[in-house]
Amino acid sequence: MAAIDGLPPLRQVIATHGLSAKKSLGQNFLLDLNLTAKIARQAGALSDCDVLEVGPGPGGLTRGLLAEGARRVLAVEKDARCLPALAEIGAAYPGQLEVINADALELDPLAHLNPPIRVVANLPYNVGTELLVRWLTPPQWPPYWQSLTLMFQKEVAERIVAQPGSKAYGRLAILAQWRAEAKIAMTLPPEAFTPPPKIHSAVVHLTARAEPLFPADAGTLSRVVAAAFNQRRKMLRASLKGIAPGIEDHLRAAGLEPTMRAEQVPIEGFCALARQVSNTG
Ligand code: SAM
Repeated sequence: MAAIDGLPPLRQVIATHGLSAKKSLGQNFLLDLNLTAKIARQAGALSDCDVLEVGPGPGGLTRGLLAEGARRVLAVEKDARCLPALAEIGAAYPGQLEVINADALELDPLAHLNPPIRVVANLPYNVGTELLVRWLTPPQWPPYWQSLTLMFQKEVAERIVAQPGSKAYGRLAILAQWRAEAKIAMTLPPEAFTPPPKIHSAVVHLTARAEPLFPADAGTLSRVVAAAFNQRRKMLRASLKGIAPGIEDHLRAAGLEPTMRAEQVPIEGFCALARQVSNTG
């Protein structure tokens, strides 16, 4: 059956262009265009947005984004073998797709995008986590993006949306939820990908908050949270000893018991502690 965009099925695209999956680039492709359109819909309304897609590969998700009405897509792909397949998509959507052959970790995409901007990616997991942390810690807030819709290993997705009191709760949950609303939009079994990875995956959707959830200096919050979770089994009075003199008094002033463990402290508590530490630091 012909696809809605008149382009060949993705299996054929992969065969024509010799796109055998490379493990070193984390290539697990999505070949079902119904599925890629569904992922594109998780990103929200696209018709008035530029979309930054990182790691388009043979273009399944790119086609989903364009078919769902994205105003423009900027696709950043490291593997030059994918460029001819992506050029065919560009020809089917004239003026709507720009492809850059680059490492997304090295490129500043802003010069190529007009706001409002949404980011969508099915990336290797290590690259995805590194980019997520960068997107959440820009020099300026609010950031250039309105939302991030990203595929992760399910276990990493659970760490992003984790709540206090759970094993998954830690630095990533606090960073993500302090600055964005984060939810798991869908989960995918290994068979959804070609070749299938060993683990389940999940799409996380993050919407930037206009202001962080509670006031705190970003650097101090990051230092406090890192120290608390580096020794997550210890009581806060021990794990945070090196953060500031008189840490027990700071903890009490922030409404926290010095005998609590990092896992039990909500984001509000870490922000209150960061404010105490920066006010007296
Ligand atoms: N988006 C496609 C899909 O869903 O079928 C491909 C997904 S595959 C998991 C990851 C893609 O990211 C590959 O095409 C790979 O070449 C690309 N990639 C890996 N590292 C990258 C990097 N640092 N910058 C840009 N692209 C990268």
